[in-house]
Amino acid sequence: MHRLYVKDNITIFWNSDKCYHAKKCVTGCPEVFNINRKPWIDPTGADSTKIWQTVEKCPSGALTVTYNHDVDVIYDEAGQRSVALHGTDMIGECDYEVTADGWNICHTEVSPEFGGKQIAKRLVFKLLEEAEKRKISIAATCSYADKLIR
Ligand code: SF4
Repeated sequence: MHRLYVKDNITIFWNSDKCYHAKKCVTGCPEVFNINRKPWIDPTGADSTKIWQTVEKCPSGALTVTYNHDVDVIYDEAGQRSVALHGTDMIGECDYEVTADGWNICHTEVSPEFGGKQIAKRLVFKLLEEAEKRKISIAATCSYADKLIR
């Protein structure tokens, strides 16, 4: 399972496949990470600095975090893509095609001036999250997305 949790200036990523329940997050910041709650991550529970410091201690890499850089990532169902918006400007997208087996991510692109800000990762995770919510299998011929999915 892949999930995104957005708070003001940061986005938290959680990949349940990597989580081996060491609980560093739960003990480090119980206001945010609480396995007895649904959803178990509530990014409003602590300030971004504390969340960042806690996520950095995740030993498995199941949790990661990035700054948002004033970029929103949304799902565009009609366009079969996720889209990155800086204000009203589209500065990135991740496209998929519908196949007999589910969704295939075929293209991920971010404007060069926004490179190095992990926006492509947010775009791919958004599609992973949406596919999982719909119980749709997802694969990628886009090599960048393929690395994240594996
Ligand atoms: S610290 Fe990382 S590995 Fe441990 S429970 Fe939290 S997410 Fe899972």
